Amino acid sequence: MVTTCILQVALPLPLPQCFDYLPPSNVPQRMLTVGLRVRVAFGTRRCIGLILGISNHSEFDLSRLKRVIELIDPVPLFDKELLDLLTWASDYYRYPVGEVVSTALPARLRRGSKVEFRGVETWCITPRGREAELELMQSAPRQAALLKLLRAHGTCLDASRLNALQNHWRPAARRLVAKGLVEIRNKNCLQSRTSSSNHAVRLNSHQQEAVAAIARRMAKFGVYLLDGVTGSGKTEVYLALIEIALQTGHQALILVPEIGLTPQLLTRFTRRFSAPLAVLHSGLSDSERHCAWYSAREGHALLVLGTRSAIFTPLAKPGIIIVDEEHDSSFKQQDGFRYHARDLAVYRAKQLNIPVLLGSATPSLESLYNVGQGKYRHLSLPERAGKAKHPILEVIDVRRRPMVDGLSDVLLGQIRKHLQAEGQVLLFLNRRGYAPVLICHQCGWVAQCRRCDASMTLHAGSRTLRCHHCGSQCDVPEICPECESEDLRTIGQGTERVEHALKHEFADVSMVRIDRDTVRRKGSMEAKLTEIRRGYHRILIGTQMLSKGHDFPDITLVGILNVDQGLFSTDFRAMERMAQLIVQVSGRAGRANKPGKVLLQTHKPDHPLLRILLTGGYAAFCAASLRERQLAELPPYRHMAMLRAEATNRTAPAAFLDSVCAHGSCKTAAGIVVMGPVPAPMERRAGRYRAQLLFIARHRKNLNELFKRLSVVLYQSRGLRRVRWSLDVDPVDLS
Ligand code: ADP
Ligand code: ZN
Ligand code: ZN
Repeated sequence: MVTTCILQVALPLPLPQCFDYLPPSNVPQRMLTVGLRVRVAFGTRRCIGLILGISNHSEFDLSRLKRVIELIDPVPLFDKELLDLLTWASDYYRYPVGEVVSTALPARLRRGSKVEFRGVETWCITPRGREAELELMQSAPRQAALLKLLRAHGTCLDASRLNALQNHWRPAARRLVAKGLVEIRNKNCLQSRTSSSNHAVRLNSHQQEAVAAIARRMAKFGVYLLDGVTGSGKTEVYLALIEIALQTGHQALILVPEIGLTPQLLTRFTRRFSAPLAVLHSGLSDSERHCAWYSAREGHALLVLGTRSAIFTPLAKPGIIIVDEEHDSSFKQQDGFRYHARDLAVYRAKQLNIPVLLGSATPSLESLYNVGQGKYRHLSLPERAGKAKHPILEVIDVRRRPMVDGLSDVLLGQIRKHLQAEGQVLLFLNRRGYAPVLICHQCGWVAQCRRCDASMTLHAGSRTLRCHHCGSQCDVPEICPECESEDLRTIGQGTERVEHALKHEFADVSMVRIDRDTVRRKGSMEAKLTEIRRGYHRILIGTQMLSKGHDFPDITLVGILNVDQGLFSTDFRAMERMAQLIVQVSGRAGRANKPGKVLLQTHKPDHPLLRILLTGGYAAFCAASLRERQLAELPPYRHMAMLRAEATNRTAPAAFLDSVCAHGSCKTAAGIVVMGPVPAPMERRAGRYRAQLLFIARHRKNLNELFKRLSVVLYQSRGLRRVRWSLDVDPVDLS
C-alpha cells in the first residue's frame, strides 16, 4: 500500500498555520524529515520554508496541493529540542510559527543559502597589489583609494570594516580582484585566546559555594539565581562553571543584554579560555552571523556569547546556559515576535536537561518570586570581591532648594568637593537632549510633534526639535508660530543641558557626555570609554547607556538627577526599574579602595519604597514590592497579556478591540480580568492612534484557552478596517 506523504511547511508569513505540500517528485521518502528547508511556491511567490511535520492526510484535496520545488538541506537545520522550543514559543507567544523559525535563522539561511560555511570573506592585498603604481590608476579613483586603504592597514579587511571605511567599495574590489591586485580569503569568525596564562582567580567562599551547588548537578536541569551585588564576582562564577562544562566536552551559551556585550567582557573570556568562542549580536554582517551560527551547531565554537536572539543558536553539545543581568528588559523583544530570552533559556535548559544560571545584582521580581515558589534555587554573593566597599546612598531633598538646570546646590557643592579631592564624578539622567519642552512665555504655545501626542525635545547642539517617539525633527523656530513672540523658553532638562550647566560651573574641568546622540558613530562609544578609563575626564554625564556593563573604578561620586521619574509613572514596573538603576549605577562606582557615594535628588524623600531601598537595600525593597504586587493582584502573582491595536483613524482601534472581544467572548472568559479597551498612555504615535486591551489571569491555562479562541478571530480579521494588531504575552513595557 502506498501512503501519501504530506509535508507541513512553516513559511515566513503572518499566518499562524503550517502549509501542506506534496514532497518533491525526485526525492525518496526516507530522505524527508522535519527540520529540512524546502523551496515552495506560495501564490505567485517563491518562499523558503521549514518542514515541521509529516503526515499522511491533509484537510485539503490532495489534487490541489502543490509539490515542493526543491529540498534544500540534506540534514535537518535544527535538532528535535530546538524545533520543539520554536514551536512551543510560537504557541506560548501566539506568534506565527514560520516567523518564529525565521527569527531563529541567520538571514542567509532564511534566503536559502547552504548551511555549510567556509568562513567570513576578507579582502587582502596581493604582493602585486603592494607594488602597483597608484598613479597609473588615475582613471579609477575608487580602486586606487581601496588599494591605498588595504596597504595602510597592512592586513586583510572584512566587509563590515570596509563598509565603515569606504562607500561603494564592492565594485572596486571586484575589479582589483580581477586584476590580481587583491584576493579574497576566508577567515574564521571565531575568537580564541589572546594570552598564554590562565587568568583564574582564587574564588572566595561564597563563590565556591555557588559553583559547587551547580557543579554537583551539571547533567541535570535546574534554574539557579545568582544574586550578587555588583563587583561580587558573578562573572568569575560564570567562568568557573564554563570551565567545568568545557572539561567534559560541553558547550556554554551565555546571554547578555544588548548594551552588556562589551569588549572588556569579551576579553575576560578570551583571556581565560583557549576554547574557540563565537559572538552573536545585532552588529554582525550576514556572513559573520552565519559563521557563528554554523560553528556553534557543528560544535567548533565551544563558547557562544550573544544577545537576545542567541537563545536560538543550535548547539552540538550544550552543557550550561548563563543569562547575565537577567533583570534587563532588553531580553524581551519589543516588536514582532515578542519573546523573552530569559524565559526561553529556562525552557531550553529544561528540554536539554542542563543547568541554567540567571545572574544579577538586581534580580527581577519575577525571578525572586520563582525562588519563593521553590522553582529556582537562590545562590547569593553578599560581598564585593577583593577590598572594595559598598557605596553610601543618600537622598537630597530638593524641595524648596535652589536648582540650576536640574542640579541642586547641595549636589553642586558635593561635586566640587569630590573634584577637589581628585575624584571622578558620574551624573546620571535618563533623558537626552537639552530640554523636553519648548514653550512660548507669551501665549503658552508648546512645540508638539505633529505625529504624536508628545512634545518635541530641544537639541541645542544640532539646533533641532526632535520627537523621541517617532524620530520626526525640524528646526527650532526663532519666534512663536502662534503669537510671534521671541520669548521662547524651555522646561525641564536633558543630558545636554546638564552638561552645559556644568561647563559653566566648572569651566576648566574636562567632561564627557555619553548618550545616543554623542555615540551615534560606530566605535565612538568605545573611544569615549577608553578616555574615561585613562582618566581624561573628571565628570561623566550619561543616560542608562552608562549604567550597564561598564566599571569606572575612579568614580567617587554618583548623582542620580531624576529619581522622581520612576516614582510617578503609570507603568507598575517603573519603581522596580528605578531601584535597579539606582543599585546598578551605584555599583559602577568606587571599586578598588575608593569608597563611593551616591546622591539621589528627589522631591519625595519619604516615598515608602524609596525609603525601604535606602535603609534596607535591594532585598528589602523587593520583599516590599512583592507584597504590593500581591495585594494589587499584579505580576508575578498574576499572568498578564496585552492586545494592542493601532490605526490612522481614531476610533477604529478601540472598535476593533471591542469586536474581537465580543467574538472571542472575552468578558465572560473564566478566570480572566479584562481591562479596556482604553487608549494607550500615548494615544497617538507616529501618526497612528493606539488602543489596548489588558488581560490578567491567575492561571496561565485560562489565558491560553482564551488566546486560542481569540487567535481565530484575530487572524480572520487581519487586514480588515486597516487596523494593525499585536499580542504581547508577559509584556514588560505597558506604554
Ligand atoms: P560582577 O560580575 O559580580 O560584577 P566580577 O566578576 O566582574 O563581578 O568581579 C569584580 C572584580 O573583582 C573583578 O575585577 C574580578 O576580577 C575581581 N574578583 C572577582 N572574584 C575575585 C576573587 N575571588 N578574588 C580576587 N578578585 C576577584
Ligand atoms: Zn506665543
Ligand atoms: Zn513624534
